[in-house]
Amino acid sequence: MNHILVIEDEPSIADNICYALKAASLITTVAASGTDGLNQLNEGSYDLVILDVGLPDMDGFEVCRQIRLNSQMPILFLTARSDEIDRVVGLELGADDYICKPFSPRELVARVKTNLRRVSAVESHFANQEHHAQVQSPSNVTTNLAVDTPTRTVQYHGYELDLTPYEFGILVLLSQQPQRVFSRDEILTHVWREPTGSFDRAIDTHIKTLRSKLKAVYDAHDPIKTHRGVGYSWKSEA
Ligand code: CA
Repeated sequence: MNHILVIEDEPSIADNICYALKAASLITTVAASGTDGLNQLNEGSYDLVILDVGLPDMDGFEVCRQIRLNSQMPILFLTARSDEIDRVVGLELGADDYICKPFSPRELVARVKTNLRRVSAVESHFANQEHHAQVQSPSNVTTNLAVDTPTRTVQYHGYELDLTPYEFGILVLLSQQPQRVFSRDEILTHVWREPTGSFDRAIDTHIKTLRSKLKAVYDAHDPIKTHRGVGYSWKSEA
């Protein structure tokens, strides 16, 4: 069974969330502040975090940033205002999804399950691609990129990259077929497996963070080419 950490300071909302998740056979633990939530994550084993943006001690963005220092677990933001949504989607926080208050319990459970499935889909997707990745590796050597799918490690110009699951997925997808342009829909389908239709900007955000990580290692060449209004492709070094 999946264990969900609910970081929410309003008891009535936390109760509603837990009630809905328990009804869907999920285990829940509530933390009423950001500090409490981070402590819980250090002590326990969780599969997903539901994170309120407005917390008494620190905002959800800071909590998310701290979680991302050592974990790529799915984070589902709870937002109350549209300006918070813009920050969730626009910032390079690595949030996986968000849901707006007020939300229906059914919608919440559906989002939680989708995000849990995305993680397992990403994992099984790359397990299935193991053979394919090895076949492709000679061409990747010439681009100074070496992807080891079983261990999910990426060496770029001799340096190991620290990528989120989605950044890893996008990099593998693009680099396996250099020059081929992938639309955002295709990237969603291949990497997310369950397109939400409303999360195009998340792809741009992941591309942006992936690009900056590649650039931090080697800035003489940008291997990700943007095709405006179309999508992205991998550009090998000349
Ligand atoms: Ca709150």
